[in-house]
Amino acid sequence: MIKTISKKLRNDFQLLLTMLMSIVGMFFLSFFGLNALFNSQYVLASYVLITAFIGIGNITLIFSRYSRLSIFNLSVLCGFLILMLIGHGGIEKTGILWTYSLLTISVAILPFKLGCIFCSIFVTSAFYLMLIPNNHDFLVDYTITESTRYIASSLALCVLTLTFVKIQENTKKVLRRQSITDELTGLYNRSVVKEKRVAKLGKVTATVLLVDIDFFKLVNDEYGHDTGDKVLIAVSEIIKSEVRDNDLAIRWGGEEFLLILKNCSLEQAVQKASSISKRVQKDAALFELVNKEITLSIGAACIDEKTELYDAIKTADQNLYVAKNSGRNKIVDTNLRFKSVSQ
Ligand code: GH3
Ligand code: MG
Ligand code: MG
Repeated sequence: MIKTISKKLRNDFQLLLTMLMSIVGMFFLSFFGLNALFNSQYVLASYVLITAFIGIGNITLIFSRYSRLSIFNLSVLCGFLILMLIGHGGIEKTGILWTYSLLTISVAILPFKLGCIFCSIFVTSAFYLMLIPNNHDFLVDYTITESTRYIASSLALCVLTLTFVKIQENTKKVLRRQSITDELTGLYNRSVVKEKRVAKLGKVTATVLLVDIDFFKLVNDEYGHDTGDKVLIAVSEIIKSEVRDNDLAIRWGGEEFLLILKNCSLEQAVQKASSISKRVQKDAALFELVNKEITLSIGAACIDEKTELYDAIKTADQNLYVAKNSGRNKIVDTNLRFKSVSQ
């Protein structure tokens, strides 16, 4: 349990920051609130102490399964604290200095779009609290110079932090994409299967095809590894052009490919397999590379409510084995029906 939490915190910058800020904020606010209480600033004291208590609650939330909710809680909390500091002014109007760090943290922990919403609400509220004349005793008055300088500088901080968040989100996207992509062929690699969206497949009808190039070792032996790579790339391109956008084409191993065809019956999948095999066999560029036809053996199996993805892959693998042992250049489906790929 502790291991999972620490791993989660290590890998999640936003959650780690939320955790640190909640702890630091809790201590700091408790001290500040008690200080205000002893100085008879009761409104300020109660506001700050309530915020500190909510902060403590937020720390416990980080360790629950709703941990991401703590990020939104903390930013809302910081938002209120910022408005309170602007409105009250703190000691000799220096309270607003703290809003710079609170603002940075709130925007840094939120996803980019929510960060933009946060900044818009902040700027509008700051504008209202500082520039619109008010008659409330508990709101401090700022001069025009103070207000405009504060709003302009915090706006610059918002833009800088949002830029940092956007860069971080883009980098994450690129790294995630790289981690599930096969470098040589540009297809997915097998890590993609661990992703949630693939695991969810168990609830819809889908079909898996396990595709293996026949006698590929001979290609490497006769024409070299580079030509072997070119063959792999050419076969992958044909596969890519045959699958739909929401299907998954994965390089499963050396010269083996796994296709997960969503909302696709076994019959439709076998037709797809046949079309891929024929295109590979007839491909002029492939023929030019190795001076002979490249053929595929394919095992097919269904995923449905009763069959999990990994069971289907296992069955497809067994079917592929049958296709290999019965002369190759064949498609074998779950019912062990053979389909020879004719020209
Ligand atoms: P079968 O018809 O039974 O599938 O025979 P095969 O020769 O295709 O299969 P085998 O498993 O004997 O050989 C696969 C070969 O694929 C062996 C390995 O060197 C080669 N290979 C695996 N990954 C790559 C790669 O990235 N590039 C190249 N060029 N060759 C690879
Ligand atoms: Mg092979
Ligand atoms: Mg193989």
